[in-house]
This record gives sequence, structure tokens and C-alpha cells, in this order.
Amino acid sequence: MPSPVDTSTLVLTVNVRLARWLTLQHNCNQSASQKVWDTPSIIPFDAWLKETWIASWPRQHVLSSLQSKKLWERIIQDDVQSERLDIMHLQGAAQDAAKAYELTQQYEVADKPDLFNLSEEATAYYRWQTQYRERLRRWDALDAAELLPAVQKSMQAGTIPVPVAITFAGFDEITPQLNRFILYLKTRNVKISWYPAEPATSEKVLPEKKDQWKGEFRRYPDPQTEVIECARWIRSVMQPGKTIGIVVTEMDGYRAMLVRELKAELAPESVYCWQGKEAPFNISLGTSLAQERMVDLALELLACSNHVFSTLIVSQILRSPYFADWAKEESARLKWDLILRLHHPVRVTLNQLLKLKNLQENPGFSSFLYKWKNWLDSKGARRPSDWGKAIARLLHEMNWPRGGRGLSSREFQIHDAWNECLDELATLDGVLGKIDRTTAMNTLTHIVREKIFQPKTREEPIQVVGLLESAGMQFDHVWILGCHADALPPHNDPNPYIPFTLQRQHNLPHCTPNRTLQFYETILLRLLKSSTDVQISFPALIEDRENLPSPLLSPWNEWDPPSNEFTSYRLIDQFQEHSILEEMADRSWIRVNPEELENLRGGHAVLKHQAECPFRAFALHRLKIRDIQPKEVDMDALARGNLVHAILERFWREVKTKQALDRLADDGILPEVIQTQVDVVLSANQNLFSGQDEFKKLERQRLVNLVKEWLALEQAREDFEVLSTETPVEFSLDKLHLRLKIDRVDRIGKHLALIDYKTGKEFPVTGWYNERIREPQLPLYCLAHPADATLFARVSKGKCGFKGMGIDTPDIPGIKNKSPGKGGFEDWDQSKAFWKTRLQAAAAQFLEGATGIDPLDKPSVCDHCELPTLCRKAELLHSTGGEESDEAEE
Ligand code: SF4
Repeated sequence: MPSPVDTSTLVLTVNVRLARWLTLQHNCNQSASQKVWDTPSIIPFDAWLKETWIASWPRQHVLSSLQSKKLWERIIQDDVQSERLDIMHLQGAAQDAAKAYELTQQYEVADKPDLFNLSEEATAYYRWQTQYRERLRRWDALDAAELLPAVQKSMQAGTIPVPVAITFAGFDEITPQLNRFILYLKTRNVKISWYPAEPATSEKVLPEKKDQWKGEFRRYPDPQTEVIECARWIRSVMQPGKTIGIVVTEMDGYRAMLVRELKAELAPESVYCWQGKEAPFNISLGTSLAQERMVDLALELLACSNHVFSTLIVSQILRSPYFADWAKEESARLKWDLILRLHHPVRVTLNQLLKLKNLQENPGFSSFLYKWKNWLDSKGARRPSDWGKAIARLLHEMNWPRGGRGLSSREFQIHDAWNECLDELATLDGVLGKIDRTTAMNTLTHIVREKIFQPKTREEPIQVVGLLESAGMQFDHVWILGCHADALPPHNDPNPYIPFTLQRQHNLPHCTPNRTLQFYETILLRLLKSSTDVQISFPALIEDRENLPSPLLSPWNEWDPPSNEFTSYRLIDQFQEHSILEEMADRSWIRVNPEELENLRGGHAVLKHQAECPFRAFALHRLKIRDIQPKEVDMDALARGNLVHAILERFWREVKTKQALDRLADDGILPEVIQTQVDVVLSANQNLFSGQDEFKKLERQRLVNLVKEWLALEQAREDFEVLSTETPVEFSLDKLHLRLKIDRVDRIGKHLALIDYKTGKEFPVTGWYNERIREPQLPLYCLAHPADATLFARVSKGKCGFKGMGIDTPDIPGIKNKSPGKGGFEDWDQSKAFWKTRLQAAAAQFLEGATGIDPLDKPSVCDHCELPTLCRKAELLHSTGGEESDEAEE
């Protein structure tokens, strides 16, 4: 391994990742020939500046990044109020302002007001930064971006010693501020060196021909294939003592895929999670601490502002092992959760929770609820450090995060990271003063979201890093992923608070697209030189978007490698390759026995689900599996549809005929009648709107308009009479007993039409002449009730209409009989006979106990099915090569 390290030289790296990597390389090199060796001085540049400064016992202290951001926020917030500025996102504005301050320091932009009066944003920024400086002066503090000149001054004054030799590692660019420092060091005879090369002197032109570097430029159909092939390639080149770098242009999009595929290929046994085997790679840029369930739930719980909670949160707390005495009270808590879900409330009050059955027999959870209540009742303002202590004490009393169990190593680390966030909150006393509970929780949530959590693992020879993070790293093999035109270079994003002319004048990062292009060209060139074997790839399609290769790679031709270029070491592939498997058909039908048949109840949904997928019907109607997700909103599509059904049912029960409808319209009282019916139904469903008067008004208006639109369509029909609404019908097919409810039966002349309301945007996919009748509801009504036509009535804003079938006579817009040539039948009786045969066959199949996984496609039933984890369709398709049922639809 190449290494810049000689223990007499101070190595200052551009980032933490490189410091760790160089230390690992040094230790590996030393261990080959020695038993003990000196620890090298390899340290990130920023950390060195801070350490050196603190060691000199300075008068001024350095603001942390959080203190600085909060100070910017406070200054901007005060200014926005006094100047009536239009700032959409305070935290974003503060972040940009802090970055602008850092850039102006690093690039030594003159602090003159006339340079900043070119735009409203820049003028505002200048006001903010004047106040920021004033606060720093009053507090005797320094911004981190001012530390370098301060250290230089202290060296000049002799209060900070000057090092003998420094190696700067991994710097792609030198800012004017750093350049001034280096010039100063040179005047003090400090030996300066660069690793791997001095930025200003490095060649900046990419090789024109691909054969000037060893590797391939590969195009893959999508990121998934790209990552799989990359993981297999690593397995093929991996050897003891060799280092491998995976450099990713857009880490967010690739991270989860990389972790999964690298584990599957490089450590197949890691699927046996109980073995605790560590994966042999490090992936940088962890995820936000707020994404850890243990922390996220604690934040949600603490941030509640009153005694009413969403059922979703309460359900998560009940099932969370991190609170109260989970180890002893798990079973009672799961039972409460089940009861809650089955009752379908959207919100739960603390009083309801305190009345849970058998709560007193579960002292852990009972005590947890009272502690929570005390927290929610707490009032007044405190300093952030006092809030931090109160939060730590409360969570400790709630037994978080242990819940009476032992913690895993990862959970320990998450807990440590959480405590660091509380410590950070405590540093804001001076910036924020006394704050209320809501502000304290908002600030803590902000800190936790910004905190990157990366579980500590030992350094590995395989490193997954972002483009910028890869600075200074040298490898034996490198693969650069995701090199498409949108990612390399990324979009230009200049700072909004520094005037563009000033940015161009000082050549600030991202000041022009050309500047960004050149910067990434430098990075790409550095990566091409970082190894003797560099592979480059890009996905041709991301989701549905086509990608071109990066313009930086345009001199080289990409190629499509074969799909199985490298051998797979995934466990599943190993099994399939080396096992001689015996094939057998699954004939496990589970017949409905007479006792079960007695108790079997259902409507048209049994046959609908049987047609959609036999396993779905088996699971829903025989195993009685139910989706018991807590409801997130009162007014979901089902509740809205029920209101429309109820209003139309009441209306036609009273009005009964088309003539009566016309009379109401002629007398000008139809709008009033509609409003009355809507009001009656809304009062009967008051529970859906508790405390939401404005929303109720909007919903009332929506319903009135929708019913008006619908009745206008009914007025355009020939005369009809509504004979009945919500008619219950009992019907048996084979031995399957079904209970149906017909929304409406109309008499049109001497014909009867059966109508079912639908409130969705589309008519259901019918497939009435298919072998498997996907929407058997209306055919079933025709068999169970005398009918000359059957129709869906779509009651939906802007899309009202009928669709159905019948004998030719009834004059209803929307009846369209399929001609015999297109798979229809000569007459209505033939249609009914066909439906009877098909629906009888489906009923017989259900009773025989078919459990096959055979979903209808186009559109796929599976897209909206709640059972994929139970039926394991994904695994089944994977093992059979991905063929899905492809029944032709209407
Ligand atoms: S997910 Fe698909 S295959 Fe599985 S039960 Fe549902 S419809 Fe059938």
C-alpha cells in the first residue's frame, strides 16, 4: 500500500475518513515488519486547528457548528420580523447564510457594504453578517471559518508552536485563506509536502483515450444491476492485503442497495443475523439519527403537545420494546394494541389510555403513562441545558431504551449518539436563553435530524465513499458508480447570498457551471490516478427516466457488459447451482369441511378474491386475515364513499321517481332538498368531524355539488322508478351461501335494472366475459335477482356516468353490450348462463380449498394486496424465473 506517513511529519487530512484510512494503511505496513511502532500524527485539518487553538489557552472560544447555525437562525428570525422579509424556510436560510460566511472568509471576500447591495438577498445577508460579527465580538467568540487566520496570528505571536513539517493530504483545491497560511509556514521554514499531489500542480486534463487507463466504462440497464455486478466484481478481485474503493456519485440513492448486495456477495453468511458476522466493508456517510426507530419514537412521544394522540403513535409505543417494562408486559401491551386497531379510532386520549383494562396489573406501562402525562402538563420556560436534563431524566424513568431488556451493541451506540445530541442542546444556553417546551423539542429534533449516525466498526480494506470523500484515497482497485449526466457533474448550486459578480471575481465554488465542471473534472482525474484498475459505470434508466453518460466521460465509448459477467456468491444462487432439486407440484388443496361451511359467511367479495388470486380468497375468507393498520385519517376514501351512498339512499327512498325529481327541479326546490339530505347524513356521522368545523363545511359543499352533478345526469334519463334501495338478497352458488346487498333497483318501462354506486375516479376493471370474472358483483346480482340490465353508477366529480350490460331495450346511457364477435353473447340469457357457469366454478374451487398463488395481472392484483409477506410471491417468482400469470383482460 502506498502511504504518505513518516512518523516525524504531521499529516493534516482534508476529512476524517482519509485520516482513518491513512492510519489503517500505516498500521498495515508497519505490522508486516514490526511488533510495535509509533502512532502516526494523522489528523483532520479542522480538528488540528481546533486542538492547537484550545491548547494555547486562548481568550476567544470557537462556536460549534450548531451554535453558529442557531445564532444565524435567531438573527434572521428577528430581522425577518422587523424588515417583513419573505423567508420560506428559516433553517435553510440560516444554513445558506452560515455557508456564505464561511466562503467569504475562506476566499477572503472584502467586507464592504457596497459590494453586497446588488440584490435584496445579498443586502439582507450583509445586515445579518454585521449582527453576527457583533455577537461574536460581544461573546469573545470565533466562527470556525475564522480559526485559521487566528492560529496563524498566534504562531506569529509565538503562543502556538510552528510544526517542523506538514503533509497536506487529500486537498483537491486550496482556498486563498489556506494558501496564505502555507506561504506563512514556508517563511517559517516548515517543510510542506502534499499527498498524493499538490492540487495546483496536478494535471487537469482527462485522458482523451480510454486505453490510457486500465478499466472499462460500463452501461447497465438500471442501478440495481449496476450494484449487483459491482459487488460480484469486488468478490472476483478481492485478495488479502489488497484495497478496494467503491466511489458513488449519489450516495443517498445507492446506499441501501450497496449495503444489501455487498453483504450478499461478500459475506453471504451475514443473512444468519444471529451469528453477528460483520460485513468486510465500511460505508461512509451514515444516516440521520432521527431515522433510528428507537430515537424517532422517543422524539414523537416527547413532542406531543396535548393529551390527544394519533392511534398510529400509540400503537407504535405499545409495540415498542424500548419503553417501560417490555420484557414483562409485552403480552398485555400487544393485546391492547390489537384492541385499539380493531376499534379503528383515529385518535386516542391519554384518559382513555389510563383506563386500559388490566392497566394496574402492568405497573411498568402504568407508571410510563403517568410520567408521560406529567411531561405533557409541564409548563414554563427553561434554559436548553435544563430541558436536556429534564428529557434525560424523563426517558430514564420511562425505562428508555432498555424496556427491561439488554441492549445490542448498535442500540448502545444509538443511545450514546442521542446523549451527544442532548449535550449539544445544552450548549445553546447562551444563544437561545430560556425557551418553552415546544421550542426545546423543535431544537432537539433539528439536532437529531442533522446528527449522522454511523455504527462504529473496525476499518476494512473495502471502502464505499462519496466522490468528495474519496479525496486522497489510493486503492488497488476502484469502481465509480452512477456516472450519468445528471450526477457527474451535479447541478450547479451557487450560494444565494453572495452577489454572483463577487462569486465570479473570487472564483467561488459553483460560481458558474464551468467552474463546477472543472472541479469535477479534477476529481475524476484524481480518481483515475487513484488506482491502476478503475472501473466506471452508469445506469441507463433510473425509475422511468433515461440517463445519458456523464459529459466528462464523452471521449470514451461505453459498452454493455453481459448480465452474468461475474460469478454470484449469494447463498440463494449457491443453493440453486449446486443442489439437485426434485420438482413437484403443490397439490395441497384444503377442502372446506361441513362445519366450516356452516359458519362461512361472505358477500360477492369471496368470488371476487377467488378470481383475483385463490390464495387471497383463502387467506381473507377462511384464515380470516385482516388488515388492522391503525387509520391515519377519519375521512378516508371509504368513509367519503359511505356518505355518498347514504345521501343517495335517503334521497331516492323519498323521491322515488324521475317525474318527482323533475318536479323538484321545476319548482326550484331541488337544491334545498339536496342540502337537507346532506345535512341529515352529516349529522348522523358527526364523529367523523369532531373539532373540525371548517373541514365539515368543505365536505358539505363537496357533497352538495357532487349530488347535484349526479342528479343532473339522472334527469337526462328516460322515465324510471326506484323500486328499492340497499336491498338485501340471499343467494347460494354450489354450496356456498352468499349475502348480497343491491344499492338500487330501478324499473325502466317494463324492465328492471340493478345499480351499484362507485365513488372512485375509474370504473372497476370488469372482465365479465373472462374465464375468471374479476368483478363478479353485478353478474352475481343478475343471478340472484330478476334483472334486464346491471350497471355501475360512478358518482365522482366531473366523471359521473353509467357502465353496464343488459338486454338491448332499457334506455340508459352507458349500457353497452359486447357483440358476439368480440367475446360477448347472442342474447342476455346466454350472458347470464355464462356467468352462472363461471361463478359456480369459482365457488366450487373455493369450497374445494384451492390455495394457489395465481394473481390476475393488468392491472396486477398484487399492487393493492395486503398479503405479499404471507404468500411470499416475490420468492416464488424469483425461484421460477419471474413468470407471472398473464390472463387476458377485457
Ligand atoms: S400478493 Fe399477489 S400473489 Fe400474494 S396473495 Fe396477494 S394477490 Fe395473491
